Amino acid sequence: MTATSASLPTYSTFLEDFTVDTMIARLDDHQDGCFNAFEACCGRHVRQGRGDVLALVQEDINGQTHTLTYAELDELSGKLAGWFKAQGLGEGDRIACMLPRSTALLVAVLATWRIGAVYQPLFTAFGPDAVDYRLGRADTKLVITDHANRFKFDGLSQCPPVLAVGGATGEHPNDHDWQTALTYTSMSDKPPRLAPEKPFLQMFTSGTVGKPKGVAVPLSGMTAFALYMELAVDLRDDDRFWNMADPGWAYGLYYAIAGPLLLGVTTHFCEAGFSAEGALAFMKRHHITNFAAAPTAYRLMKASGLFDDAHQTLELRAASSAGEPLNTEVVTWVEKSLGCPVMDHYGQTETGMTCNNHHSLDHPKHVGAMGVPMPGYRLAILDAEYNELPPGEPGVLAVDIKNSPAHFFQGYTWQEKDPFVNGYYLTGDVVIRNDDGSFQFAGRDDDIITTAGYRVGPTDVENSVMTHPAVAESAAVGQPDEIRGEIIKSYIVLRDGYEASEALADEIRQQVRERLSTHAFPRVIEFVDELPKTPSGKIQRFKLRAQATEQVRNDK
Ligand code: ATP
Ligand code: MG
Repeated sequence: MTATSASLPTYSTFLEDFTVDTMIARLDDHQDGCFNAFEACCGRHVRQGRGDVLALVQEDINGQTHTLTYAELDELSGKLAGWFKAQGLGEGDRIACMLPRSTALLVAVLATWRIGAVYQPLFTAFGPDAVDYRLGRADTKLVITDHANRFKFDGLSQCPPVLAVGGATGEHPNDHDWQTALTYTSMSDKPPRLAPEKPFLQMFTSGTVGKPKGVAVPLSGMTAFALYMELAVDLRDDDRFWNMADPGWAYGLYYAIAGPLLLGVTTHFCEAGFSAEGALAFMKRHHITNFAAAPTAYRLMKASGLFDDAHQTLELRAASSAGEPLNTEVVTWVEKSLGCPVMDHYGQTETGMTCNNHHSLDHPKHVGAMGVPMPGYRLAILDAEYNELPPGEPGVLAVDIKNSPAHFFQGYTWQEKDPFVNGYYLTGDVVIRNDDGSFQFAGRDDDIITTAGYRVGPTDVENSVMTHPAVAESAAVGQPDEIRGEIIKSYIVLRDGYEASEALADEIRQQVRERLSTHAFPRVIEFVDELPKTPSGKIQRFKLRAQATEQVRNDK
């Protein structure tokens, strides 16, 4: 990953020629400053003669493959959009969808955008409470779901009308039938073109450190999505692209659906849930060339031992990761085992990706760092008084909004807390700038550990713990300590075949002490079967911190 290629445009020359306006012009052939997300992601590809290109290759739960070309997506979404209009739905209405990764899901997204409505994802693992929380706030006008998920909408205080994939059942006789909706006469009027600040996605953050926050993504965000796919993911016309992330979350919706479709490329869905065996077989069967997944997936693939010779059979050219720090150990493993470079990308539901190791740009690629600001963004690191810090000093990562033409986040939809100060958007993450200009993730502001006066990011400790061959996953948190304020406690999940013991804990502790530092090593180690995670697979350190604190209190 440290190698740079002479054929790549360098970061600074790319920036000299780059303007967001030229990017917008490429996504839209009307040039009137307005957008329709369906037009940008499907309609224009068909009009420009690319209707035969596959938009989606989907493998269902039984291993059957289904495809949709851009022309088929155009046709089906036109019919569903015609039905939406007949129900009185239109511009700005929230339409929520809880469906597995299926052709129906993609048709629903595109039809929503086609009428100028706002697509609201609902992750299929959500239970009724998570659904209620989101639908109530968004004033959702229609829900699209299937039989397997229908019960989650039963107890809601106010359930919007339901369009049922698979049809109405005896229990829910008033549900509308998906197949009937797809026989509707296609929407005849042109998709409405809306101002760039109008929303096209109604998101909620992952809820890693508290209640999920509502984020309405404006149409202007599509520019940044497309830029990310080109520069950071290096998505090419002939790629067979698979982003494993579920479209119920930002990473999957922005970059497994909107991003690839904006570029007119083929995206892949695998309906089955994650398993290392399943992932390997899927990549082989569909000849995946460009792959993306959250770090947790890479960690599980590595721990399975199944991928160690995979580079001999896979056709991967590029891999990307986002959502959590990509452990340095995993970076090395991917290159060796999958046979392609993996690039760590940093972003948020609020902003999309803003800081990346760009596959297609030549800049220092520092293993363990999350890269450099994406063109269109100026990122700063701020101290507690919101002054910009020089390299080497940790502070909160912020977007300098005035100097970031690609920035699109306008504030939380229903959130008390304002994340904007002095023209900056504060991400809440602590980072350090390396001397080569790359940004290094230290941890979420709340997860930083203060031990004996030193501020230690959990990421460094976790990376170091992960280098021990027995470790599958780990999380580091601060545990209250009378002398040092906090001491570092590591929770560790072992790989199959390793037994938890005090001797092993000692070995790991000593290894981190020697390799990382004599002050930032885990004085306490607890072996656990699993780590607490969000439904999207992110480690929830605040839960472990509470657990560690509670244990100390009980031991007194
Ligand atoms: P919530 O805001 O509700 O607590 P969340 O912050 O996890 O949840 P997301 O928007 O899904 O919600 O995630 C964004 C966060 O994920 C970032 O602020 C950062 O903490 C973390 N993150 C994303 N990418 C990376 C990365 N490459 N390296 C380190 N951390 C990352
Ligand atoms: Mg967040």
